[in-house]
Amino acid sequence: MSITVTGYQLGLFGNRRLVREAEGYARGAAPLVTQAVGQLPGSVTITLTNERAMITLSTRADASFAPGASGLVKVWKTHQQRRHGQGAFGVTSLDPRGGIAIGISVTAATTAPDLAETILHEMVHAAQLNAPGAREMHIRHLRHCYRIEPWSRRDAADYDAVIDRREAEARALEPFAARLLR
Ligand SMILES: [Zn+2]
Repeated sequence: MSITVTGYQLGLFGNRRLVREAEGYARGAAPLVTQAVGQLPGSVTITLTNERAMITLSTRADASFAPGASGLVKVWKTHQQRRHGQGAFGVTSLDPRGGIAIGISVTAATTAPDLAETILHEMVHAAQLNAPGAREMHIRHLRHCYRIEPWSRRDAADYDAVIDRREAEARALEPFAARLLR
């Protein structure tokens, strides 16, 4: 398992310090997440950036799984994600090269506790998406969202419930982020 932390469009100031800080939280979070949720994927890339770039990167990753989508649907999907991403601290996506890509908005998660909590939260999603069959199901969901192979209402509702359960699991682990700060 390898975790790579990079900065993107952060400006020069504070870049290296932030990356080192985030690396420390990710290293501390890995055993907590593995024990509570399950194995992390072989490759996790964490990109520290601003909110706008975070959403752009995640939308681009999602869209790569729906290459046949019409331009109009892509535009709509981008708007939808922008809305959901508004104020979000982090986003976890399938990395089209394999593994998981996590985007963190360091313009939103500005304090050390926020950054540690966001990294832990998103790493929980990385482990969830690494469960057997989860990646394949998520790709099918993306293809549904992009109207390549739309699901029935029932299937879409079932997956929404899965997403809600994953979110609850990630939130439940957030208090453990305090351990990463010591
Ligand atoms: Zn979440």
